[in-house]
Amino acid sequence: MNKEWSEMNKKMQTLIGKETSFPEGIDALIELRESLFEQITSIAKNYPAEAFYQMPFAGAEGYHSKTLVYSMWHIFRIEDIVAHELIGKDTQVLFAGNWQKKTKSPIITTGNELHDEGLVSFSRELDTKAVFEYCRAVKDASDGILRKLTYADLKRTFTDEDKKRILDSGSVSTDESAVWLIDYWCDKDLKGLLKMPFSRHWIMHIEAMCRIKNKLCHKAKKGVDQIAYCGLSCAHCFLKDYCGSCRTPYNTCSYATCSPDGVCPNAACCKEKGLDGCYECDDIRECKRGFYSLGKEVHAIKSMSLFISRHGKRELQTVLENLHKKQVFEKVQEVLGDDIDQGLQILEENR
Ligand code: SF4
Ligand code: SF4
Repeated sequence: MNKEWSEMNKKMQTLIGKETSFPEGIDALIELRESLFEQITSIAKNYPAEAFYQMPFAGAEGYHSKTLVYSMWHIFRIEDIVAHELIGKDTQVLFAGNWQKKTKSPIITTGNELHDEGLVSFSRELDTKAVFEYCRAVKDASDGILRKLTYADLKRTFTDEDKKRILDSGSVSTDESAVWLIDYWCDKDLKGLLKMPFSRHWIMHIEAMCRIKNKLCHKAKKGVDQIAYCGLSCAHCFLKDYCGSCRTPYNTCSYATCSPDGVCPNAACCKEKGLDGCYECDDIRECKRGFYSLGKEVHAIKSMSLFISRHGKRELQTVLENLHKKQVFEKVQEVLGDDIDQGLQILEENR
């Protein structure tokens, strides 16, 4: 389990378990959910439409064998049902906000009954952006319910009437791979539900989503030029396990993700000028666009670009290999001196 989320989860469980620290426990739960939701937001914002219905681990055992958009739908349908049919005893967000129509979903269930091709075609039908908005609406409504809970509520249990209400809502398929959920939820007390589905269930599925998106990035990069537009080498980049390269639609490099349109300004500028990379540009030394607008370490990237203009991309890869054999470093900026020319000199010396 992701270390940060695991620690937050443990802290939250401990705080919630005692009456005196219960309110702090709810704050910790909301904070954990915020942190997890940031990951979903980043995926929803930064990946191309096709990424959401790919199943790169098809047939595997585990939550990562699903698609990204299925995972989003599933996490929040379950939460919506539990939060509103069981705890709040009011109307699910799906119905109150007309989200089935907005998301273009052919179903109102949790999706547990879907497998293989059925799961992929369901994922293709969904409007991903609307599903993300539905997720956010469910999260906000649940946070409101969580904030109103008292320590005494933790002992609340559920009845056959509760089970019947869920079944009658049609929100859980009667397929054997789904219908067990009703007993699973209703046989817990409310404290148990805080774990599944309000925290641990999120962690498990969001970690699986991270595996899916990382795998998609790896697949996208196969056979693609490993030198980024700015001059960095994707093969030696500390983000290589999470980024699909600025030469594919799976670009999740830091500069692309913080640009409003999700495109790195250096990549956009090169494309506009018809250049293979900034290493073909005469203005590179003075340029302050995108990645080159960052602080004092930017010179190292420019040194690499200028080195490419002199010796080509393959030679830069060799020099980076040589540097990694000699020293332990995460970012190349750490070993390329204090200015462009010093960086160039270090690269030259390591040919
Ligand atoms: S952050 Fe830039 S250099 Fe690193 S893998 Fe992504 S595109 Fe390549
Ligand atoms: S102007 Fe800057 S960002 Fe654009 S191609 Fe030249 S060096 Fe790259």
